[in-house]
Amino acid sequence: MNEAAFHWHGPRQPRVPLVLDSPHSGFRFPADFDAVVSEFDLRDGEDCFVDELYMPATELGVPLLAALTPRTYLDPNRHAGDIDLDLIEGGAWPHTHVPSGKARIGKALIWRTLDDGRAIYGRKLKVDEVIGRIERCHAPYHRALSGGIDQSHGDFGVVYHINCHSMNSVAGPMGEGGPGTARADFVLGDRDGSTCDPAFTEFVRATLAATGYSVSINDPYKGVELVKAYSKPAAGRHSLQLEINKRLYMDEAKRERNAGFAPLQRKLHHLIEAIVDYIGKEIRRG
Ligand SMILES: [Zn+2]
Repeated sequence: MNEAAFHWHGPRQPRVPLVLDSPHSGFRFPADFDAVVSEFDLRDGEDCFVDELYMPATELGVPLLAALTPRTYLDPNRHAGDIDLDLIEGGAWPHTHVPSGKARIGKALIWRTLDDGRAIYGRKLKVDEVIGRIERCHAPYHRALSGGIDQSHGDFGVVYHINCHSMNSVAGPMGEGGPGTARADFVLGDRDGSTCDPAFTEFVRATLAATGYSVSINDPYKGVELVKAYSKPAAGRHSLQLEINKRLYMDEAKRERNAGFAPLQRKLHHLIEAIVDYIGKEIRRG
């Protein structure tokens, strides 16, 4: 297993069946990236500081998995077979092809274009290069997350997984919902009630709303691969995607924390405390 693709923060032996993962906050640029745009531009797709925002949760005995490689290099929140054929030398993929439709906007497993439509590469990628990225980044991340979820489910009989993201405050040219659409403070995604108990989604919504935040559900983000892959609510496996509006904690143009970072981090800590409490009650109810 290549440990360089991700890092587990917090306890290896969780005190509560809650697993957090941040697949898009990495910015360790691999030497073989070979992009023709700058690293600053490649951080376009990054959910900046999201791992740091949730770090205090580890003090509650909650493990946090964070990807270290950038999302533009390989997006763990895609199926490994979600290959953009326009990026592949020869235009054919000799392995299982599971297109999600995201290739249309250049955001399949390996991004082809930035948000503004600029090409990331000056050439096509070889099949072996793509397989190398899958083996070094995608497979280890998925093994780590599914292993962490399985461990908690085995120990507690139930597991809750929060897939942690952030979003631009306003949709870009290729953004969901159309260019210029302003986002709510938080967007929760449970793929229309299919990846967790709807009561859990409602609990998180109500907790955030009581703090004064605007919250939208499954609009415009329903959740993608990581909440789909390891959830099975009927078997006590619950996954929820949580998108935070970047304007709450950072200057999006400069990619720096703003004065909102520390207050938001405290409020997220209170949210996680409330979720831990909720899970405890659910376990006691059986
Ligand atoms: Zn994300």
